[in-house]
Amino acid sequence: MNIIRAKTIGFCTGVRRAVELAYNEAEHSRGQRPVYTLGPLIHNPQVLDDLKRWGVEILDEHHLPENLHGAVVIIRAHGISPQTETELRRRGAQVVDATCPRVKSSQLKAATFAEAGYRLFLAGEKHHAEIIGIKGYADAAAPGKTADTAAFCAVVSNAAEAEKAAAQLHDEDSTLCDNAATALIGQTTISAEEYQSIGSAITESFPGLEIAQTICTATQERQDSLREMLQKVDAIIIAGGKESANTRRLLAIAEAAGKPCALVETAVDIPADFLKFNTIGLASGASTPDVIIDDIERSLGNVSAVA
Ligand code: SF4
Repeated sequence: MNIIRAKTIGFCTGVRRAVELAYNEAEHSRGQRPVYTLGPLIHNPQVLDDLKRWGVEILDEHHLPENLHGAVVIIRAHGISPQTETELRRRGAQVVDATCPRVKSSQLKAATFAEAGYRLFLAGEKHHAEIIGIKGYADAAAPGKTADTAAFCAVVSNAAEAEKAAAQLHDEDSTLCDNAATALIGQTTISAEEYQSIGSAITESFPGLEIAQTICTATQERQDSLREMLQKVDAIIIAGGKESANTRRLLAIAEAAGKPCALVETAVDIPADFLKFNTIGLASGASTPDVIIDDIERSLGNVSAVA
């Protein structure tokens, strides 16, 4: 059997950095002090199980223990709001920031815009940790830094919501001219098409909208790599956690192409009937470790080509 690996496969840089920081902390702190991640570090059960074996536990951010003195809390790649970080420190935690530098850049942009009095639109999922964190930066940077004076910051997930939010802002504040200072920041994983359509919808009300370039190419690169090899293979295996949104999106792309495909968390999940294919394409989400990809590949046979 031939196996073709996608050109871009495995951890993205932000996830790799966060996982390495977690293992470093586990090694340095072993047995001496508790180490936590705030929420699951990544959507990969095997990595989470291994970190647990190293003594790294998961904290529920909605139910923080009152006393975290002596504990290390690792912030995952999605980042958190400054309000949550302050709360962790108030409870005595030593905070290790594994926020992806790309997300950090969005957080700082939001703070800069809010400080300068911009009305902000955030394109993404309202309840996603990354968006909650970015919004927190905007709110904290607004004049007065209280709930009453928080920055105007509307989270919109599609063009229809964006159009509505922009029109509403226009109606509510009659002093706002078309060229009022407005800016759009996107979740790093939003698709370029969706971001563009959201930007166009807001521009109808505010032609002077500044659109920040915040999309991370890691997700797109994995999708492009998969598309590139679709025609060269008989079937596709997507390696990754079932809870990982970007992994599931890869599976949807393979399914839409009409190829036999399977989402495989570890080698034991490889469907037995896949062994009948001559050429299998192997792709993965951004939170799948190399060790699992290598293991799946070994179970199928030896690599004989690269897409
Ligand atoms: S997908 Fe991009 S923004 Fe998200 S963690 Fe990975 S590198 Fe960072």
